Amino acid sequence: MGKFDKYKIDLKGMQADSCKYEFVLDNLFFANIDGPEVQKGKVNVVLVVKKTSRAFELNFQTEGMVWVPCDRCLDDMEQLVSSIDKLLVKFGHEYAEEGDNLIVIPEEEGEINVAWFMYEFVALAIPMKHVHAPGKCNKAMTSKLSKHMRTTPDDEMAEDTFAPEEVELMNEEETQVDPRWDELKKILDNN
Ligand SMILES: [Zn+2]
Repeated sequence: MGKFDKYKIDLKGMQADSCKYEFVLDNLFFANIDGPEVQKGKVNVVLVVKKTSRAFELNFQTEGMVWVPCDRCLDDMEQLVSSIDKLLVKFGHEYAEEGDNLIVIPEEEGEINVAWFMYEFVALAIPMKHVHAPGKCNKAMTSKLSKHMRTTPDDEMAEDTFAPEEVELMNEEETQVDPRWDELKKILDNN
């Protein structure tokens, strides 16, 4: 049995009009799928397949937690993911992805493997920006990174990852609030 055989959904042989599957995507799943965004996690997926006259409607409900590197300190952090996604599957001559969520599969095979789709739904559910809760970042790493920022202001990567105002926020706990903010606030309040 292949690593992803249990994620095959037999549509052709479907007897009832509606069918429910439950999957747990664990560390082994993420290791096997070897995608760039997520290497570890524990995510529950409930898949409900509905047969309609024209297509199969696959509704995925994704709920769980993944480990991803924090944008600020690069240590792994827990990120909750939650998502609802839909795929429409039709029978045709050969495999094709039409648009974002219409899949054509060969009628002779009559089945679709949902492993990679579920991985993608998890990866897409991760917010663009994800950081530890305030005060939970790796302090040694953030101070190293913010020093690096100051010495190489032209480094595009560093600028993209750590905007100056973020570094300001990171350091806020240790340092006094910049008095210029008070001045700025006065100006704003007066207008
Ligand atoms: Zn962090």
